[in-house]
Amino acid sequence: MSFASELESVLPPDLPERDRLIHLGARHLERIDEANRHFNLTRIVTPRDAAIKHVLDSVLPWRFFAGAAAILDAGTGAGFPGIPLAIVLPGQQFTLVESIGKKARFVAEATEALELTNTTVVNARAEEYLREAPPILITGRAVAPLPKACDLFGPAIRAGSRALLYKGRDIDTEIEAATPEARKHKLKLSVLARYELPESSGLRTLVQMSSHVP
Ligand code: SAM
Repeated sequence: MSFASELESVLPPDLPERDRLIHLGARHLERIDEANRHFNLTRIVTPRDAAIKHVLDSVLPWRFFAGAAAILDAGTGAGFPGIPLAIVLPGQQFTLVESIGKKARFVAEATEALELTNTTVVNARAEEYLREAPPILITGRAVAPLPKACDLFGPAIRAGSRALLYKGRDIDTEIEAATPEARKHKLKLSVLARYELPESSGLRTLVQMSSHVP
């Protein structure tokens, strides 16, 4: 099956911009497939796995991002969750930040080829970029374990940002392990959503990191 037909079969019927995501999401996955022949961009490559674990996983919690004017995807890798979210939320601005130059170049070329007008790609360490940025909604998937994420994003959150991080099933243990760092940066960690990916692809959680200080 092609990337487009796998996306057609897994994306929820009520997803905004669903047809656009099937079309552009498939082109994004095709570009990843091609780039993967030259360098290691992702290990998830079969059309079914890529449709579920990359695209569907990125957009399932779209409602939590719907109110934010500007969103920053820290450690976007091949463009997840930033590119699929930018496709389903075209009225919002996305900054896709990646520290490895080769990956950032891939994402910049992909967003240009897909003609996305609401994305900016930055080759930088997210925590350094955030030092100069105005308050923003930070997101990230598989970018750092929660204790490290508190250290990376804590200063930006103290300055008015908020983070929604994609996490897995061990979130309660991770939150406990992050208690010292959360206390140090005066952060509140809460699980906003828990959901299963289809075909036993795993339990996902969305964790909010916000300031304890009003
Ligand atoms: N978010 C993508 C996904 O879920 O498919 C990529 C996940 S990959 C495991 C982590 C990515 O984050 C890598 O591409 C790495 O280079 C990048 N990264 C790690 N720490 C970073 C940081 N502090 N700032 C920017 N990028 C970072």
